[in-house]
Amino acid sequence: MRWRGNRKSRNVEDRRSSRISVARSPGGGLLNLLPVVFKFLGLKGTVVLVLCVGAYGLFTGNLGNMLSVLGIQQDTTARISEEPLRETAEEKELVDFVSVVLADTEETWTTLFRQKGKTYQEPRLVLFRDAVQSACGIAQSAIGPFYCPGDQQVYIDLGFYDQLKNRFKAPGDFAQAYVIAHEVGHHVQTLLGTSRKVHSARNQLSETEGNKLSVQQELQADCFAGVWAYHANSTRQLLEVGDVEEGLNAASAIGDDTLQKQSQGYVRPDSFTHGTSAQRVKWFKTGLASGDMDSCDTFNPKYFTGLADQDHKSIAHAYEGHKSDVQVEGEGIVTKVLSDDNDGSRHQRFILELHSGKTLLIAHNIDLARRLSTLREGDLVAFNGEYEWSPQGGVVHWTHRDPNGRHVDGWLRHNGQTYQ
Ligand SMILES: [Zn+2]
Repeated sequence: MRWRGNRKSRNVEDRRSSRISVARSPGGGLLNLLPVVFKFLGLKGTVVLVLCVGAYGLFTGNLGNMLSVLGIQQDTTARISEEPLRETAEEKELVDFVSVVLADTEETWTTLFRQKGKTYQEPRLVLFRDAVQSACGIAQSAIGPFYCPGDQQVYIDLGFYDQLKNRFKAPGDFAQAYVIAHEVGHHVQTLLGTSRKVHSARNQLSETEGNKLSVQQELQADCFAGVWAYHANSTRQLLEVGDVEEGLNAASAIGDDTLQKQSQGYVRPDSFTHGTSAQRVKWFKTGLASGDMDSCDTFNPKYFTGLADQDHKSIAHAYEGHKSDVQVEGEGIVTKVLSDDNDGSRHQRFILELHSGKTLLIAHNIDLARRLSTLREGDLVAFNGEYEWSPQGGVVHWTHRDPNGRHVDGWLRHNGQTYQ
């Protein structure tokens, strides 16, 4: 790539001299647990396949889906100390390179957003070593570069580039740029509201269906990386002979099928979260050929229809019309976990804030249905139940299956599990 001498981004934050130590809690800190968990999952040696945890729906400052799926609690007592930074000349050049690539994505997306009458907010890129604290939790280098929607920052340990070259056999500066452009692609998805939609939808889908959605989101980020490359080249002539091949090679090297074959010797398509090598190459090429973000229509619309957006209408309708005894469906963020109501049949109670800003009390019958045991403030919960109006927003109950079959079955969904 012809990048030397180009503008460097002001949005690079260098945290390579920070060291994080996590106080051990009875369960053990996240840093202590991660290697164990990955080993348990059989991903030893290929943990980098989680190229971007952001895509798993880490959200709104929560540790979010992925880590809670793995059964990890966030250990918040991290201590950060500073050490003098030692870096090689090679690493120093890599920092310059990353800053130039980030700056180039800023130019590209600012222009593309402006053409659509939108404003591009530049993400920050955090350089770290070994471990870093983000709004999505504490992450170790082993999980690879990632984007955290909660703080809208891209995180990368430059050591990943050695792995890209040596372990994944994807050398070259353009391969390195592709990684950044892909993470920036997730930032674009966040600004466009796509990430939030995916997150909501995932909450209401089975794991297999949710994984399909995750693949579509990843492939779109690959396509956005291609869109960036198109503009970087057509406007600023960044590409040299062989660069495109480097990018395609990298896209292919980190396909789920390729990684699974390497790590476990067989392929399990249901568990794909990023797409096959062929898919990743295909979508990177699509973006690269068109330079048009609208060409990156990787999503199958069936996953979005009938979900969150429409459901909110029914509850808004019931609230505005002071209606009670109507079956409603929707989702919201937990703003308060209340104590159980043990008068008569027992109910787990919590308050949700809906996307409309309205609040809603959920009273979930735990004599008849399972309790949401890991519920915390900030979590996303989808519900289906009977609504009773009140000026404060109302209450939803009957979020369970009727043992006598005389009432419509309701449910709650939280972290990919259904409770009824
Ligand atoms: Zn990704």
